[in-house]
Amino acid sequence: MKATLADTLQVVGRFAPSPTGPLHLGSLVAAVGSYLMAKRSRGLWLLRMEDLDLPRVVPGIADDMLATLEALGLQWDGEVVYQSRRNEQYREAALELRRHGLAYPCGCTRSEIAQIASAPHHDAVVYPGLCRNGLPPGKTERALRVKVCDEAICFDDCVMGSYRQEMSASCGDFVIQRADGPYAYHLAVVVDDAASGVNQVVRGADLLSSTPRQIYLQRLLRYPTPGYCHLPLVTGPQQTKLSKRDSAVSLAAGRDLARDGGALLLSALRFLGQNPPPSLDGASPREVLLWGVSCFDPNSVPRDAGPFEG
Ligand code: GLU
Repeated sequence: MKATLADTLQVVGRFAPSPTGPLHLGSLVAAVGSYLMAKRSRGLWLLRMEDLDLPRVVPGIADDMLATLEALGLQWDGEVVYQSRRNEQYREAALELRRHGLAYPCGCTRSEIAQIASAPHHDAVVYPGLCRNGLPPGKTERALRVKVCDEAICFDDCVMGSYRQEMSASCGDFVIQRADGPYAYHLAVVVDDAASGVNQVVRGADLLSSTPRQIYLQRLLRYPTPGYCHLPLVTGPQQTKLSKRDSAVSLAAGRDLARDGGALLLSALRFLGQNPPPSLDGASPREVLLWGVSCFDPNSVPRDAGPFEG
């Protein structure tokens, strides 16, 4: 039988935590899910520290994260990429968008936008496009925005199914560089995934509604679009979304990963709808991951958020 491109293309997945707080159970689920989705296809699993928002980065957390992943046997391929060292690449991409008239300077303040913008069915503010046709007189550039299209962006998520969003109704022209300098997450993630050849993005469902903006940027920058797989969120004690600030749920807190790592991975697998056999109780992280690599089934991953029973 003739090999197709899909047969020969190596899966390149990644895990991209933000070192703004310790790894929590939600990040563990994203790490395990992205690792197994890559490794079940004998792919690469890359690691990127999303430390772009320097004032929010907690010193020492990135190294703690690496140590936790290693203790769990979640060994990444290649060098860790740090977004804080890649400003030049983001600058080039932003310049290219600007050169082609796809991005424009915006002089609006947050409060000006909030006063005019309204999004009846949405929590987020929709940018009303005040600076789309040039900076109004007297305004200075505060941010760089990308012009969104009127057509809906649609994609098929491996867990969440088909997803569709009209950016003009849900967010409007969005910021890719802020007034105070840093590039926005959406631009950085798209530039970095393309630069590393990532073709499989597995992450938490809190980023599902951001994905159309990222796909749109990929199209504008002529990058390939990876496959997407958004995993259910872990809920906190009152069904709330787990937050990184919630130190009570920090992964390493109160746990001896050398002793409990295997059990923690088993809980993550069960959270992801997998059915590891009882014979793995008491197994090491390595044994649990080996089972996951050969048996992980993305079709069994649930869509709904839920508590982490561990
Ligand atoms: N850095 C993001 C987070 O920690 C994840 C970004 C991504 O996977 O695209 O929530």
